[in-house]
Amino acid sequence: MAELAERAWEAVVGLATGLRVTLRALGAKKNTVMYPIERLDVSPNWHGLLALPVDPATGKDKCIICFQCERVCPDRCIHIEATGKGKERLLTRFDIEMDKCCYCALCVEVCPTEAIVFVPLYEASTRDRNRLLYDLDDLHRADSKEPVARGIFSVGGRS
Ligand code: SF4
Ligand code: SF4
Repeated sequence: MAELAERAWEAVVGLATGLRVTLRALGAKKNTVMYPIERLDVSPNWHGLLALPVDPATGKDKCIICFQCERVCPDRCIHIEATGKGKERLLTRFDIEMDKCCYCALCVEVCPTEAIVFVPLYEASTRDRNRLLYDLDDLHRADSKEPVARGIFSVGGRS
């Protein structure tokens, strides 16, 4: 009889402990983010997508076509072509194969004009590998080509 009572007491204590943990969790601040309905802002230093944003002051990118980023890239995923000489030099191709990029940031660090930058976006995954080739127009837009949730949910101005 005493053993039965001891077991019943242990069960009550166990139940009370469990309920206390549950009630504490109910009142605690939630850490779960209901992605993609909710999104967290990432740090401005986030190594997300690469971009060549257009400079609002000039309406052009800041690239001076020095080829340093192409040379330093360990994955050989930057491809630059240009025509003309001196001040007449014009970019005809600036492609980045984001599927090969290892986000090492060497291109960003070596760029003398801060023309190539990381943008704090992380929704670039796609089922089509070709969609991970970012050309100059894509890089000027400084946005991902195919956010997973685009077209499914519309949240915070991005859809
Ligand atoms: S982050 Fe690294 S791997 Fe990616 S493009 Fe730049 S240099 Fe190449
Ligand atoms: S390092 Fe900068 S300026 Fe030089 S080619 Fe690359 S993006 Fe352009």
